[in-house]
Amino acid sequence: MKLIRFGAAGHEQPGVELSDGTRVDVSPLVHEFDEQFFAGDGRAELQQWIQTHAASAVRISSHERLGAPLARPSKIVCIGLNFRDHAAESGMPLPAEPVIFFKATSAIAGPDDDVIIPKGGTKVDWEVELAVVIGRRTAHVGRDTALDHVAGYVLHNDYSERSFQLERGGQWVKGKSADTFAPLGPWLVTPDEIPDPQNLAMWLSVNGERLQDSNSANMIFDIATLVSYVSEFMTLLPGDVISTGTPAGVGLGMKPQPRYLRAGDVVELGIDTLGVQRQRLVPFMESQ
Ligand code: ZN
Repeated sequence: MKLIRFGAAGHEQPGVELSDGTRVDVSPLVHEFDEQFFAGDGRAELQQWIQTHAASAVRISSHERLGAPLARPSKIVCIGLNFRDHAAESGMPLPAEPVIFFKATSAIAGPDDDVIIPKGGTKVDWEVELAVVIGRRTAHVGRDTALDHVAGYVLHNDYSERSFQLERGGQWVKGKSADTFAPLGPWLVTPDEIPDPQNLAMWLSVNGERLQDSNSANMIFDIATLVSYVSEFMTLLPGDVISTGTPAGVGLGMKPQPRYLRAGDVVELGIDTLGVQRQRLVPFMESQ
């Protein structure tokens, strides 16, 4: 199943994209794709409902805006330096254990929303990532059963303002959390549609130029390891997001000098089976 949320920002409704690409409103059954939905039998009930109601359900126009395909979760946990080539381009050693950091949940945006260059920002950078959505309360789960705790997968562009992240001291969360810095979607794809999440091509272009081109097979720590590892340190709640790191090709790693985004630039990215995103960079306005 491909879960979507559609409508104006802050007023999204739950929907499903059917296998033929038709989008249908599922709000008669589902209140929201939130912690309660993921914790309960929501996905099984929805699958059942779709089988009997898909033909009669309200259609959603393909012109309708899509939001992130899940309501604001309790946390976004990000994994740093999880691809060898990205650790090398960042000038960082390979981690002995997963590097984890947070991203503010207020940064979440729709997959094609404009991305705002934050106030004082000069080094906005891109990172195509495969994000995992947790399907049940998870603490101290073993690696062997960790994937049973996954509700689905979603495309994420883990935007950073590198000057806030690396030049202002303290934790990376400073540079990762500006409004619009976490576009998620278009879909939350359930695991039954992804037989092997460790073999998905992932790519990103800026103004049509392909800059990231890799595969989830190249992760240092795989998804099962990451879910297990993070759950040693905190309880993951249904709907929580773990973003599993980016391959080489980010602006910070460009030679002979880094390359960052400016207003008007267009970023496009995709992961096999998880869809594509397109963002336009816009300047910060005081009213924001
Ligand atoms: Zn990242």
